[in-house]
Amino acid sequence: MSVRVVARVRPLLPKELDKDVIVRVDSTSDDGRAPNIVKIPSPKNEAEEFSFQFNGVYDQATTQEELFNAEVAPHIKALFQGLDITLFAYGVTGTGKTHTMRGGMKLADRGVIPRLLSHVFRRGKKMIKDAEGEGRRVDVDVALSYYEIYNDKVYDLLEPPEKRTPTGLPLREKDNKTHVVGLSEQRCVDLRDFEKLYIAANQNRVTASTKLNAHSSRSHAILRVKVTQTFRDETDSVVSVKESTASAIDLAGSEDNRRTDNGRERLVESAAINKSLFVLSQCVDAIARGEKRIPYRESKMTRILSLGQNNGITVMILNLAPVRSYHLDTLSSLTVSSRAK
Ligand code: ADP
Ligand code: MG
Repeated sequence: MSVRVVARVRPLLPKELDKDVIVRVDSTSDDGRAPNIVKIPSPKNEAEEFSFQFNGVYDQATTQEELFNAEVAPHIKALFQGLDITLFAYGVTGTGKTHTMRGGMKLADRGVIPRLLSHVFRRGKKMIKDAEGEGRRVDVDVALSYYEIYNDKVYDLLEPPEKRTPTGLPLREKDNKTHVVGLSEQRCVDLRDFEKLYIAANQNRVTASTKLNAHSSRSHAILRVKVTQTFRDETDSVVSVKESTASAIDLAGSEDNRRTDNGRERLVESAAINKSLFVLSQCVDAIARGEKRIPYRESKMTRILSLGQNNGITVMILNLAPVRSYHLDTLSSLTVSSRAK
């Protein structure tokens, strides 16, 4: 079981070009070793600087490809060996979570999720071919589920919003695992197939939140990629089946909602978000410290993900905006996420 927590600072947006940059990233040091530090001034005393250490830091020049190659690509092999991988984008609304996970339409702008799928399909094809070359047979199946957790309720994003019930989908325990009852799963054969599904599902998410007069930054969006490998012998009988999942989560914004003008409904949302993000950070801490007891049962999201329950790999990407207007929120997300101070 392993966890990496890394920080990524986004570039200035066009409307921020005249703004004060306060976040600094130190990825190299004099002795050539990477200290992986993010620095930010104290909000009370500008002369004082706070430093936060991570397992990796990425500055504004980091491309989508670089981030993927450094933090996700190395785990694809493990996924095919049967390990689960879980990738989170954590941070305040407007810091680049969706950009990191989903990214833009242009090839170079593609985020972690389409790149992950592309690598999974490529590796699956290679496995099938290699096996053929050795006179064996293996089938590789890729199936997607995509759901959101809003106000502690689970909604299927592969289904149209009209199908939603007020209570969302229930959870059930079976074989020591938590299942979302009724969650749909769609088989996917290639990247184009995936993109079609993914675009339609993201549209479902927007439509559903507009209906509720909510915002999609108030829910966690969880994509689960299930990879099933079926190994067969010369007679085509099944020898073994290996199943593993890669989950990519675009988390709800971690901003402190007490400071913004919020009505009652927003406060109910905030309570649900705060609790789930708190439990998540407790789980990540516990995994990082190598503790046996991970409090994953204490929130719906960590329960469904069985966070830290199998021999998997977790990567948490903390997204940060570089400018002063995010000062307090940046400080609090650094405090929550960093490995050492
Ligand atoms: P969040 O999902 O955390 O609310 P977004 O991903 O929507 O934030 O990012 C906010 C804005 O910043 C968007 O316009 C997005 O395109 C831009 N952005 C975020 N990260 C980057 C990046 N690494 N490079 C270029 N633009 C970025
Ligand atoms: Mg977003």
